[in-house]
Amino acid sequence: MTVTLTLLGTGTSAGVPLIGCTCDVCRSTDPRDHRDRPAAMVRYHDEQGTERTVLIDTSPELRTQMLRHQVMRIDGVVYTHNHADHIFGIDDLRRFNAVQNEGIAVYAEQRVVDWLHGTFQYIFQPHKNINQSFVPTLLTHPITPGSAFDIAGRDWLPLRLMHGKLPIVGYRIGNVAYCTDCSAIPPETWPLLEDLDVLVIDALRYKHHPTHLTIDQALEVIDQVKPRRAYFTHIAHDVRHADLEPKLPEHVFVGFDGLTIESGD
Ligand SMILES: [Zn+2]
Ligand SMILES: [Zn+2]
Ligand SMILES: [Zn+2]
Repeated sequence: MTVTLTLLGTGTSAGVPLIGCTCDVCRSTDPRDHRDRPAAMVRYHDEQGTERTVLIDTSPELRTQMLRHQVMRIDGVVYTHNHADHIFGIDDLRRFNAVQNEGIAVYAEQRVVDWLHGTFQYIFQPHKNINQSFVPTLLTHPITPGSAFDIAGRDWLPLRLMHGKLPIVGYRIGNVAYCTDCSAIPPETWPLLEDLDVLVIDALRYKHHPTHLTIDQALEVIDQVKPRRAYFTHIAHDVRHADLEPKLPEHVFVGFDGLTIESGD
């Protein structure tokens, strides 16, 4: 079965260009240096041959990302963690409720589910809103790292990652893994990354950072995991696409917004 992964956004938490920055990368005219906040879209066909679409995270640019890719329906959202750059497009999911006339399934660790319910009370406790208003209808499902769950006939395996001191998850779908926002891969996750066709991996910048892999550290992970192809994401304005890509090994690429990667398995 073919899995298609589209990188909707490949920037770090403030995006690139940064507000108020006049550095060379922020002023670059190369569209690959224009990076939305991080999110991805996974597509595959279910057993009946219907195309299914699942979002990994809802970045603040969700609306423009969905318009750019002409997404007409989604079959679920999986969250990696509860940082603003990965969540704050959540309100725009209501358009899919309207178009599809149904609730949207949302998958996240229990801690993240609790945080969503607490942070977005207007969504999850709409009866408390003063005016009746159009809010998303989201059906939350807790997930556990290492335990696969099903979305539209396909296994999704949450992978434990460490984001500084914060435990978060990446996801493996078939032979594709998406591992954003990580600074370390714990021992239990390495075996779950075997035989990958595609690895998408956090590679923030050249300099050390307490909660993200550097480019060199990401290359070390790639060396160990040995995917057939690897793509960097969550990239800061320190990195100019055209400077970095030629320096990388043949099977390693700098991700960019809108890049679609196909994997047969
Ligand atoms: Zn992030
Ligand atoms: Zn800049
Ligand atoms: Zn984060």
